[in-house]
Amino acid sequence: MPFVSTRGAEAISAPEAIVRGIAPDGGLYAPLSLPHLTKADFTRLASMDYAARAAWTLALLLDGFSEEELVPMAKAAYARFDDPEVAPVKELQGGRHVLELFHGPTMAFKDMALQMLPWLMTASAQKQGENREIAILTATSGDTGKAALEGFMDVPGTSVTVFYPLGGVSAVQEKQMVTSQGKNVHVVAVHGNFDDAQTGVKTLFGDPAFIEKMNAMGKTLSSANSINLGRLAPQVAYYLSACADLLARDEITWDEGLNVCVPTGNFGNILAAWYAKRMGAPIRKLICASNKNDVLSDFIRTGVYDRRRDFHKTISPSMDILISSNLERFLLELTDGNCARVRSWMHSLSEDGVYDIGEENLKKLQKIFYGGYADDQRTAATIRKAWEEEKYLLDPHTAVAACVAEDYRLDTGDQAPMLIVSTASPYKFASDVADALQVKVEGDAFEAAHALEAATGVKAPRQVAELKNMPVLHTRVCDKEKMGKAVLAGFVK
Ligand SMILES: *Cc1c(COP(=O)(O)O)cnc(C)c1O
Repeated sequence: MPFVSTRGAEAISAPEAIVRGIAPDGGLYAPLSLPHLTKADFTRLASMDYAARAAWTLALLLDGFSEEELVPMAKAAYARFDDPEVAPVKELQGGRHVLELFHGPTMAFKDMALQMLPWLMTASAQKQGENREIAILTATSGDTGKAALEGFMDVPGTSVTVFYPLGGVSAVQEKQMVTSQGKNVHVVAVHGNFDDAQTGVKTLFGDPAFIEKMNAMGKTLSSANSINLGRLAPQVAYYLSACADLLARDEITWDEGLNVCVPTGNFGNILAAWYAKRMGAPIRKLICASNKNDVLSDFIRTGVYDRRRDFHKTISPSMDILISSNLERFLLELTDGNCARVRSWMHSLSEDGVYDIGEENLKKLQKIFYGGYADDQRTAATIRKAWEEEKYLLDPHTAVAACVAEDYRLDTGDQAPMLIVSTASPYKFASDVADALQVKVEGDAFEAAHALEAATGVKAPRQVAELKNMPVLHTRVCDKEKMGKAVLAGFVK
């Protein structure tokens, strides 16, 4: 299945798209077509373990990869998860279900893709006859960074440089990154917010002088951000997996299906849900949940994407984003593949900070998506309510989704089964979760994790205790204009 740039470059294969990361014209690689699944496919999926489900899905989506070669990769990728189901679906009350995507080594859903990406990346490089070192450059709002560092640590033929906004990530997230081990990993804080860091990385991908310097050192650039096709494809697997499980348990029916609510930042996770829907998964409405940075819920309501607004730091920092890169892939489908149109909207966004998709496209969009947002106060209230009424501990990102899912039901009266996507362990954001539960904490995030465990009896993942005593290995900070220099400096011994 060939992949085209959202901005119009010619179609290329999956291995090539994965090695490149971003298209030379600045666009993202998107599938020209998608396979179509039947009810029988979901019955078969339900009988497989998670690694087999992932391998099966990836073989369907990525040309140039066979299921046979993907099985051992997926087995290795998901072996480090602390739940045998990898992505279990838990029941709440009122026909609501939680898809837990945080059982990987870094306690957030990014592991679902970033434990798999290094396998896809190195295999793709080999298929492409690429001999240069693959230098991964990534900007993070907190969770991608550590997941990329963990995934690529000491993988031969690769290196990874992560930029994070100084003061813009949680204490645990920062500690996870700056204690990263491995000979091929680099971590740099940037004076700026996530959008500055992401824009900086995108600029480097299009900077001929920088690329030349990297080439001269025997390196070729790629990205571990959710713009990489190798990130997106593994995310489709867990939606198919969740539908297979819920169908097998008779929690949902093939005809009625279910709604899916995703806490959204860069639009990668919910885009994977959309691809799953397009492939025939019994998904009804896609509910896009934002925090106070509600650019997407405004967009879904009005058809105007307007990033000219204040940037808010929230208790769900991995969603503190005003430029949702992956939306571009959806826009390509919304316009039936009109890349000239997508290009002009993206041009407006970068020049003027705004674009308008017009009435007709908006109508199409609203048939598929519902958008809503929750500020910190409603998010905290949702954490408290879920604990008091259901004894389920939500992290702040997941709580944003749970809150908006409830809004959706009240607003539309649609009581169909609801899948709430849980993107992080509550212990990754222990201070804010403890605050929401009014659990008294004296001290840092690690003390908060202790107090939370004592108050709720929900066991903290062992990574939390391990992290506390790890030595800090990375202390570099740079200006947002100097990110290229920072990358190069990392390779000078
Ligand atoms: C990255 C992240 C999100 C946002 O996911 P997108 O794919 O960027 O929309 C939500 N929650 C958590 C915990 C994350 O790490």
